[in-house]
Order: sequence, then structure tokens, then C-alpha cells
Amino acid sequence: KLLEIGSHLIGIVLARQASEARIAYLASHDALTGLPNRALVRDRLEQAIAHAQRENLSGALLFVDIDNFKLVNDTLGHPMGDALLAQVAARLDQCVRQVDSIGRLGGDEFLVVLPDTGDTDGICAVAEKIAEAMQAPFQIDGHTLSASLSLGIAVFPTDGDNPDTLIRKADAAMYHAKDAGRNTYRFFTERMNLDSAEHLKLRTDMRHALEQGEFELHYQPQIDLASGAIVGVEALIRWPHAELGMIPPGRFIPIAEACGAIVPIGEWVLQE
Ligand code: GH3
Ligand code: MG
Repeated sequence: KLLEIGSHLIGIVLARQASEARIAYLASHDALTGLPNRALVRDRLEQAIAHAQRENLSGALLFVDIDNFKLVNDTLGHPMGDALLAQVAARLDQCVRQVDSIGRLGGDEFLVVLPDTGDTDGICAVAEKIAEAMQAPFQIDGHTLSASLSLGIAVFPTDGDNPDTLIRKADAAMYHAKDAGRNTYRFFTERMNLDSAEHLKLRTDMRHALEQGEFELHYQPQIDLASGAIVGVEALIRWPHAELGMIPPGRFIPIAEACGAIVPIGEWVLQE
């Protein structure tokens, strides 16, 4: 009888341990892809940075974002988007070594932590291997889809000695890969830091500039060569910024388009 009670108790303890392990797993993994979630991959990045600092190694953080992923959701539906996310995650997972870590940051964003990469060539090789792994089309539910990725790379400890800085810098580099036409990778450079700080400043100042009447229109005459008469004018917007001086439209128009300020600016131009 005692033996029976004893084995019953052991059974309860084991079941409890199993459910605790299950809870810990669920709390640290992404349900859709089965990959470590943001918190866990951030933890692993922190460990990798500490390890690199101790051993005098160099590692890399890859910020990965699927190109034009919204199109899949919009045209084929959210469940197809989910299935593609899971397949991309599985292929990513196959590209890295046991010591590397992958996690899903959220949405269509993933992080890859390479704790010991050696030189830049080693990092490029991984980035290219990842691009290569996406080459073959994805078969989902009778549909054939293609997908590509944009990657931003930050190197540690050179670019930063904490997860937040590295994630921010790898993210900035990823945006440059998108800007360069997608399906490519970029290493973070300090120039990108300046670019994003300036970007943020121009975006903030833009609304104010509109209210304060800081924008100017310059008119370029259109001349009829036969008669020499002015037959029209083209209105060109200029922004003489109070601190930064004249900002060319090529720099502020894309920002205005991205943040929606282009609509009130357009209205102002027509009104003016
Ligand atoms: P880009 O090339 O600039 O990255 O364009 P994109 O279309 O991939 O857009 P972006 O990365 O900015 O947005 C990702 C989209 O992913 C936004 C959201 O609608 C969608 N999304 C986020 N989480 C999920 C998810 O769990 N499942 C599905 N199916 N879609 C998601
Ligand atoms: Mg995307």
C-alpha cells in the first residue's frame, strides 16, 4: 500500500514538473513559429555579448524582415501569411549553427545572434546563405509563393555592448537594405545613426514648419522658345530650416510621404 502511495506521489510530482516546463516553454517561445520569442532571444543576445567580451571574440546580430509581407496577407489572407511566416522561420533555423540563436521579434521580424563570427566575410557568408535559403519557392496550401528578406547587421561589441543598442542599430541597417531595393543586407555604420536622428528631427520639425509658414515656393518659368513669352510656371517647394539651413526637397519629401505630412504640405502648396 505504501509503495502504491509513494509511486502515486512521484507521479504527481513528475506531472507537475512537466507542466511547469511546459509553462516555461510557452512563456519564452513564439506559438506560431516555435522559435524563441523576443524576451528569450534578447536574453541570449545578452549572454553572447558577455561571452564575446570575456573571450575577446566578435559576434553579430542580424535583424531580418520579410520583404512585402503585407502583400501575402492582403491577397491570400492572414492564415496564408501565418503559414509563410512559419516556413520562413523553419528555413532560417536551418541556416545557422547549434551555437547561434534565432528568435521572432514580432510581425515579420526575426533576430539571428551569431556569438562568434570571426571577420566580416564570415558574417557575409551567413547573410548570403540565408538569402540563398529563401530562393526556392514556398508551397503553401496549393499556392506557390516566393519570399525574400532584408537584413541589417550590427557587430558586437564594436557597435554596442547591450541588446537594445544592437537591436536599434541592426534595425537601422535593415531599413537601409530595404531602401537599397530589398532582398539584400547592410552593415550598420555611424552614418546611419546620423541619418535616422536627422530623419526623426525633420519629421518632428515638419509640422511646425508648416504652421509657421517656413516653407517657400520658388517659381521656375516655362518659356515658349518661339515667341520668348512666359507661358507658365512650375512651383517648387523649398524648406529653409531655421537651424539646418536649406533642406533640399529630395531629403524632406520622402519623409513627408512616409509620415503623411505630404497631404497638408500638398494642400499648402496649392493654396499658396
Ligand atoms: P517591407 O518590405 O517594407 O517589410 O513591407 P512589408 O509588407 O513586409 O511590411 P512590414 O514589414 O512593415 O509589415 C509586416 C506586416 O506583417 C504587418 C502586419 O500586417 C503583418 N503581421 C504582423 N504579425 C503577423 C502575424 O502574426 N501573422 C500574419 N499573417 N501577419 C502579421
Ligand atoms: Mg516586412
